[in-house]
Amino acid sequence: MTLRTISPGETIGILGGGQLGRMIALAAANLGYRCHVYAPEADSIAADVSAAFTQGAYDDESALAAFAAQCAVVTYEFENVAAAPLAAVTAHAPLHPPARALEVAQDRVNEKAFVEELCGRPAPWAKVDSRDDLRAAIARIGTPGILKTRRDGYDGKGQWRIMTPDDAETVELPGKSLIYEGFVAFAAEFSVILVRTAGGEVRFWDSAENVHKDGILDTSTVPASPVILAQVEAARTLAAMVADALDYVGVLTLEFFATDDGPVFNEMAPRVHNSGHWTIEGAIASQFENHVRAICGLPLGSTALVTRGAVMENLIGDDASGWAAILADPEKHLHLYGKAEARAGRKMGHVTRLVR
Ligand code: AMP
Repeated sequence: MTLRTISPGETIGILGGGQLGRMIALAAANLGYRCHVYAPEADSIAADVSAAFTQGAYDDESALAAFAAQCAVVTYEFENVAAAPLAAVTAHAPLHPPARALEVAQDRVNEKAFVEELCGRPAPWAKVDSRDDLRAAIARIGTPGILKTRRDGYDGKGQWRIMTPDDAETVELPGKSLIYEGFVAFAAEFSVILVRTAGGEVRFWDSAENVHKDGILDTSTVPASPVILAQVEAARTLAAMVADALDYVGVLTLEFFATDDGPVFNEMAPRVHNSGHWTIEGAIASQFENHVRAICGLPLGSTALVTRGAVMENLIGDDASGWAAILADPEKHLHLYGKAEARAGRKMGHVTRLVR
């Protein structure tokens, strides 16, 4: 694929108005671009730092077309955008990453089947559309396991732990398509974040070791522990195959469990990722900058570390009220996302400390 170079001064469209869009817009601004955010909510913390904002539904094709007509290129920061209406975008501007990446990644069944075709290994899984399906899934895969919604789940939402076969009788099914996954006894969790250009050049950042609390990312640490480092190469090979198969342009994230038998694929995100926020200060070019470079057809920046490593800590809910104490430590980089309300479980900001 060849890409027209989008020059500084032109406009990058961003579908989605959250913190990932905000940090893409900030990186784009550093390179001299204007950003135009499209999101359904009236307020957008990405629009707060961008040149233009359109409030519109993700399935409003005429609003999407009018938005795309004002952009030189369009990207997205949110993977639950419906893929079909995006034809209204691609009629007016190139869309990177491609809509196909959304279709694969926004459905847990599709993404696991896709990865299996490339010889990747997810946890054992089964589609569940009824209680009978759940009983059959448990009979085949066993317990413990996790029942998840196929679509629209994030940060541990839409997930139910199944500890014994009896739980299958009592769990309240949400009336949505589900997937049952065997519980993976992992030693650690990590992510592979890569950037791919239209010409097929791929670069990886160091893999972070990720610790989740209540299904939400808590910390990302680079370098990861030895158990992960031994599995990064195999995980990178799979991630690059996924990117090539999708003719991907931009930043792509795959999350893995490190197990005694090697990396087990958990999920993918066709976008910049929370576990890569440390790259803002910790890498020569951050995930946000290289995403902008890739979608604009510019040469990539180096993904190398600037120091020995970095530790990123999320500020969830009330954590953000401790900003004054964080700033009192001169080694810490504070990022607050400007969200008005600190609800429990909501990502309000993050803190990065470089390891020197
Ligand atoms: P997910 O939204 O699917 O990434 O799940 C959020 C977190 O729940 C993961 O990062 C893991 O810590 C945990 N988790 C999800 N699926 C599994 C699984 N099949 N086995 C063990 N832990 C899991």
